[in-house]
Amino acid sequence: MAASRKCSRPLCPNSAVSTLTYVYAQSTAVLGPLATYPEPHCYDLCESHASRLKPPHGWELVTLHPDPSTLRPTDEELADLASTIRDTSVSTDPNDLNPGARRGHLRVIRD
Ligand SMILES: [Zn+2]
Repeated sequence: MAASRKCSRPLCPNSAVSTLTYVYAQSTAVLGPLATYPEPHCYDLCESHASRLKPPHGWELVTLHPDPSTLRPTDEELADLASTIRDTSVSTDPNDLNPGARRGHLRVIRD
């Protein structure tokens, strides 16, 4: 991620923490986490300005607060993934010249 960017509000010295994007077609302002790269039609805002943001009259403001814990797979999903890898890593195709051979380079590591 780029070194901290400044809030785009005039005279504001604070570092930006959020990025505001206007979706003109839907009259919606979307306030989300700081974009990875500065975009020409987006506005970086500091925490203070982001929290006080009011959308233009007639516009809807959508605030995105992704919870980092929801971005991680659950233990169940990891178990499913491991099971899928295990199932697909051994060939069951009778026409395969080397049945039972492992495929790919992924291994299931048990604890
Ligand atoms: Zn600011």
